[in-house]
Amino acid sequence: MEKYQMFINGEWRSSGESFESINPYNREAWALIPQASEKDVEDAIDAARTAFKKTWRNTPGLQRAKLMNKLADLLEQNAAHMALIESTDNGKIIKETSKQMVFAARMYRFYASYADKLYGQTIPLDNPNFFDYTLCEPVGVVVLITAWNSPIQLLANKLGPALAAGNCVVIKPSEQASASTLEFAKLVQEAGFPPGVVNVVTGDGKVGDCLTRSTQIDKISFTGGSQTGRLIGKNASQNFVPLTLELGGKSPNIVFADADFNKAVAGAIAGIFASSGQTCIAGSRLLVQRPIYEKMAEAIAERAKTIKMGNPLDESTQMGPVANEMQYQRIMQAIESVEAEGAKILCGGRVTDSALASGYFIQPTVLVDVANCMKVAQEEIFGPVLSVIPFDEEDEAITMANDSVYGLASGVWTTNLSRAHRVAKQIDAGTVWINTYRTSAAQAPFGGVKQSGYGRERGFHAILPYTRTKNVMIDM
Ligand code: NAD
Repeated sequence: MEKYQMFINGEWRSSGESFESINPYNREAWALIPQASEKDVEDAIDAARTAFKKTWRNTPGLQRAKLMNKLADLLEQNAAHMALIESTDNGKIIKETSKQMVFAARMYRFYASYADKLYGQTIPLDNPNFFDYTLCEPVGVVVLITAWNSPIQLLANKLGPALAAGNCVVIKPSEQASASTLEFAKLVQEAGFPPGVVNVVTGDGKVGDCLTRSTQIDKISFTGGSQTGRLIGKNASQNFVPLTLELGGKSPNIVFADADFNKAVAGAIAGIFASSGQTCIAGSRLLVQRPIYEKMAEAIAERAKTIKMGNPLDESTQMGPVANEMQYQRIMQAIESVEAEGAKILCGGRVTDSALASGYFIQPTVLVDVANCMKVAQEEIFGPVLSVIPFDEEDEAITMANDSVYGLASGVWTTNLSRAHRVAKQIDAGTVWINTYRTSAAQAPFGGVKQSGYGRERGFHAILPYTRTKNVMIDM
């Protein structure tokens, strides 16, 4: 079994306690991960604080960029190994984890290019005898907590801007998939970052709680469930620590009758079944205009039945298992309770293929006769489960799309340009995709509204919350 250590102050450290990481494809324990103690957490924060004061904040932007670009190179060179580790840990297909490593490298390069371009302004005041200017400074020590579904990609959204702006960090990946982040720390070390600039502690929610309660941190950036976000929000408010929250979703994907049918079918399928439905942006509510409702549901179900499930490490696999036992039980329970609510299972549910019995496999599932008020259409399932919901008029689709506590992503499929813009403007969500879904770019801001969180990641503006403005006023 692979034995991992944590990365604190440039050194590798074990902990008194550890836990096993389970491969969801065969339910076998494959790695041993340390459970950080309070002392480990304190040491990691101290190391970050010392590195911030002594080195990193005074390291010129150009030098920070050089190290970040080196890290991006290493991530690309080691993409195959990193993808193998992540797919073994969380069951995501290797095709997808490989792409995510390359995307993460792109994020580090994107933010590296801003590292020497963060500066203040001179400000003309009413009194000409005064000179006023601002300094753009890093915030200090930042805690980065991530979910298990895309550890390296989610981390890049946070670590890229944090490092470029001159901050030092303590990272805590999910206890469900920590290995790729610990492998990544080896690349940080190889790239030559000074000790303490990047620290990784591992463990469960207690470790996250301990980190976010600390009075010695300056910012938190969190990706995970809304309920955990609430707890972190409470901790952060005690010490007035600023917070970025990337939380859950129940995203509407709206298909109008005038849409390019085949393109919309492909988009709906990719929107929900990629990563076995375990993406925050999953287009889990497919709102379809009545004239094409049945045809669309049937077409999706037919395609869903052909999705090849299997070993996530096999290049030809199209859908892997869900990530863990808890996920498996939760999703199956959601599927098995839908008929009591009045919805119908068009395809999917429990896997019957004995070749897949050893893993946490769930078939791509399509539900019809779903009403938007049903539990299955309101709660985040975080699994391969699509609710297909009919609508008649544009206004009705918009009302239904917005009838959710979440507001992360959305999709609109139409060939009517005016309608596309009109609907995009009225949807309460951080992202609206038109005639595409799940497309991401380093430049395009990403984040949620309502219970999907606040703050934005990616794009230039996402670097600003990792900085603070100091005003300097001089009586000349
Ligand atoms: P989770 O909230 O259970 O865990 C996320 C992280 O928080 C883990 O590292 C966990 O150890 C830590 N944690 C747990 N309890 C904590 C506490 N009390 N204090 C501090 N940290 C604590 O989420 P998950 O199951 O890992 O991920 C699935 C959720 O993440 C879904 O809701 C999904 O929509 C969301 N997600 C959101 C985005 C986004 O960008 N908006 C991206 C990916 C996943």
